[in-house]
Amino acid sequence: MRAERDLAASRWFSTLGTAPGGLLAGSARMMYVTDMRHFAGLDEMVGPQFGPAKRFAAYLGGVVSAATAHLPGEAIATALACHRRPGRKPCPGRLLVRRAEAPARIEWACPACGEEGVISGWEGSPWDLSPALTTDGDERVALLSSDQYRRLLGLRLLDTDSLRVVYAARLTGAGVIVSASEEDLDNLIGYVAEEANHEIDRRRQRGLDDVIRVLDAALVDPE
Ligand SMILES: [Zn+2]
Repeated sequence: MRAERDLAASRWFSTLGTAPGGLLAGSARMMYVTDMRHFAGLDEMVGPQFGPAKRFAAYLGGVVSAATAHLPGEAIATALACHRRPGRKPCPGRLLVRRAEAPARIEWACPACGEEGVISGWEGSPWDLSPALTTDGDERVALLSSDQYRRLLGLRLLDTDSLRVVYAARLTGAGVIVSASEEDLDNLIGYVAEEANHEIDRRRQRGLDDVIRVLDAALVDPE
């Protein structure tokens, strides 16, 4: 399956090279080395043979969004799920990402299965959310479950400010921390409410209402 995926989309996978000093200890293994500019034009390609490349672009796009929602330097524990399915079961890992400057690069790794990669050429791409999220000392903090966070990631329409809040989330032992200024959080809640109002699937709608309750609580009741 993995080999098939790589073959079908080989044009877009600048796989696999070696790079020193990745996010995981004992690195310098084989890793994905990807230039996001190589994905340009992929959206217009039609046909199932482009599915794997499109999914991989979206996957790495999430990595870019998470890394650019944060300042460079720090390794961030994101709540983004690893895409691998070893033994046909989803890998339980959540991705680590780190952005570096000069030269600009983004490292990512799954601590569970060890897959990792380095991304370049993301600046100015649709996934680039820089500058990093700031809260100007007016920070509201919400703790979401993984399910609730997945609903945020699944929202169809978000502006850049809201995307930045969503992708700046951090995974902790207690759940997923979403923190933002009052204004940014209020803005995000507006988008979630908009989508909940138009949602015809009742189960999804209840899920979104659930997310709104958690975010609302953080908004009205700051620490
Ligand atoms: Zn994994």
